[in-house]
Amino acid sequence: MKNESRSRFRSPRQISAEGDNQALDAVRRIENAFFDLSRPNTAPRRILVEKLAELARTGEAFSTDDLWQGLRAAHGRIGRATVFRSIEQLVESKVLDRVELSDGSHRYRVCGGSHHHHLVCTMCNRVVDFRECLSARKFEEIGRQHGFTVKDHKLTVYGTCDRCLKSGGK
Ligand SMILES: [Zn+2]
Ligand SMILES: [Zn+2]
Ligand SMILES: [Zn+2]
Repeated sequence: MKNESRSRFRSPRQISAEGDNQALDAVRRIENAFFDLSRPNTAPRRILVEKLAELARTGEAFSTDDLWQGLRAAHGRIGRATVFRSIEQLVESKVLDRVELSDGSHRYRVCGGSHHHHLVCTMCNRVVDFRECLSARKFEEIGRQHGFTVKDHKLTVYGTCDRCLKSGGK
């Protein structure tokens, strides 16, 4: 049972100290998000928090079904609707990021709380975050050129990751 759930979430090469901090931070934010919604701390929720903490540690992106199947394989009784609703709530609370893949589908990822963007591998769908960004002034300038007042932005960069390149991807 355990192995089956593990295979769905590829094990990380390395678990860094930064990953551990990110996971602790994520657990706090996930718990806060659920607490704010004044929902009872039920067993499925507890299991979900644990799984998401693990995913925060590995930085792995996942689909609703990946998460649901993983939870079910490890713990049995958990409804898809519960998982689906929880994900929606966590996206709204900005605990989870929704990342568009190159094929138009999407994955979720537990990232750090600070401003960042995503790199997406078009071969394996690995998602990595990065901090670089244009200045607020540059965005204002771009907006002004087109008659827009800029309020927010998203940036996703697509390419081939080092792992896929090594295994012969293009
Ligand atoms: Zn992110
Ligand atoms: Zn890749
Ligand atoms: Zn930015």
